[in-house]
Amino acid sequence: MCTSEAVPFAKTGGLADMAAALSLVLAKLGHDVRVVMPRYYSIDRSHLTRIEGAMGVPMGGMEEWCAVYRAELPGSPEKNPVQVYFIDHEIYFGRDGVYGVPQEPDFLDNPRRFSFFSRSVFQLCRKIEWIPDILHAHDWPAAMVPVFLKYLESGAFPKTSSVLTIHNLGYQGIYARDNFGYTGLPAWCFYEAGFEDGAMMNILKAGLCCAGKLNTVSPGYAKETMTREQGFRLDGVLRSRAEDYSGILNGIDAKIWNPRRDKSIPKPYGENDMSGKAAAKEALQEEFGLDIDPDVPVIGMITRMTSQKGIGELFGPAYGSAYSICRDMALQLVILGTGESWCEHEVRSLSSRLPNFRGRIGYSEELSHLIEAGSDFFLMPSRYEPCGLNQMYSLNYGTPPIVRNTGGLADTVENYDQESGEGTGFIFNDLTPQAIYNTAGWAVWAYYNKREQIEAMRLRGMKKKFSWEGPAKKYEELYRAALAGVAGV
Ligand code: ADP
Repeated sequence: MCTSEAVPFAKTGGLADMAAALSLVLAKLGHDVRVVMPRYYSIDRSHLTRIEGAMGVPMGGMEEWCAVYRAELPGSPEKNPVQVYFIDHEIYFGRDGVYGVPQEPDFLDNPRRFSFFSRSVFQLCRKIEWIPDILHAHDWPAAMVPVFLKYLESGAFPKTSSVLTIHNLGYQGIYARDNFGYTGLPAWCFYEAGFEDGAMMNILKAGLCCAGKLNTVSPGYAKETMTREQGFRLDGVLRSRAEDYSGILNGIDAKIWNPRRDKSIPKPYGENDMSGKAAAKEALQEEFGLDIDPDVPVIGMITRMTSQKGIGELFGPAYGSAYSICRDMALQLVILGTGESWCEHEVRSLSSRLPNFRGRIGYSEELSHLIEAGSDFFLMPSRYEPCGLNQMYSLNYGTPPIVRNTGGLADTVENYDQESGEGTGFIFNDLTPQAIYNTAGWAVWAYYNKREQIEAMRLRGMKKKFSWEGPAKKYEELYRAALAGVAGV
């Protein structure tokens, strides 16, 4: 697994959860899985074991040197632990931030940092004398791995194939073309490998052209990314590789996200005894300084504050619907998140102006569990959502999600039918302030007028299984298909 993030070592989004969880479940199935990632400053070296000797990586016509550290991935099966290797390079990774810092959200040298990281994967295999069948790369930071395999390393790794997973097509690693020389690839590769993107260099695009197999994290998003509207200009590339491209829904870690044994909430609960959910609601209202009232519906939200998540439509100061939702409806709305500063500012402002709105700016695993458990509904008005984890957590915590009809949200939530009471959540199509307002209103109406249906809906969501076992089998098939590709060469 070649990845820029993996829990518990470094996380900025769902990719970190997925890379670790998939590695663990594959190890449980008996595979020899190893993870390679950069050693960021935030990862304390004193907990890692240093592998002896420096490691040279050929870059840009010379050799650059790094160290390698090792640790076991927590949660590994005892008999078959997953080894994590950390590439330690002071100049590239010895600083705060994974991809950037607030003052510089995308480090200027990211194309170099992640080209170096991708090439180091091959040197690592040599160093530890371990030839993988599959190099599984995640998103643009590791997308050079399949390119290096195809153009520079196929001689040394003739039986190795590559798989590239798209976690978010919105981030492609597009940089000035003069970064290309540093990769050490021959000049003609710029076109042949698929880097060309107008006057720029597109790292993800090259990875998509070169990998043995491609996939993304839900079947719905796989289809969407092949359309012009949602393909972020790579729909053509993906359509041209349609035979090699599929969607596999992520699972969730039921050890961490399970209301029956969640230590971050006041009292665990399950289908047979929901009193713990009421206790969590009270604790949530208290934590956020809201009126403590078991009868008012609470809508929760946990999000990165970026336009992908629908924050413009919800919090746009002049037109966002959050203000009118809170003004017009008998509900409480709580949000936890960080991101664009205008949005953080607006959330703080609404918190001080409205009695039934509270936002918390920050990142907190603990609070995120309390919000999932203590809310009556969970809001995700995403512009696009490759998979989305929070709606799955919400379903399992008996908190029906209110979601936009897109990607993994559409694949996991069934719309409420107020005649039959069927469904597991509330779905809307258009990403507009009005649609969010109306659908929040629909959920609140059902809470007050169709309470039995809502309680049944909670239980239905709690029974849904999103374990990793099913997806792991699908990844095994994908790996086999990728291997069949090299066997035929
Ligand atoms: P994305 O990867 O696009 O951010 P996902 O829903 O796939 O969205 O995964 C996001 C993960 O990060 C979830 O586990 C979510 O709970 C968590 N998360 C996001 N923001 C916060 C926050 N401020 N505090 C705690 N957890 C957060």
